[in-house]
Amino acid sequence: MNGTANSAPVRTVRCPNCGGPSVYAPSNVYRPFCSERCKQMDLGAWANEEFGLPEKEGQSDPGFEQS
Ligand SMILES: [Zn+2]
Repeated sequence: MNGTANSAPVRTVRCPNCGGPSVYAPSNVYRPFCSERCKQMDLGAWANEEFGLPEKEGQSDPGFEQS
């Protein structure tokens, strides 16, 4: 142990959006992103993919719902 309770090391991770350092701690509400902007942009990208793929599969396979 070479640390004091008062000076916990700040853990940083790589922002999934911009690749920059992001503080991974409760103080960073946007973690693992570095900022609100990066979080919003990433969510937007995910939304596009999530809505795009299933839609095409559903249209080409109408008999999928059997249960
Ligand atoms: Zn970022």
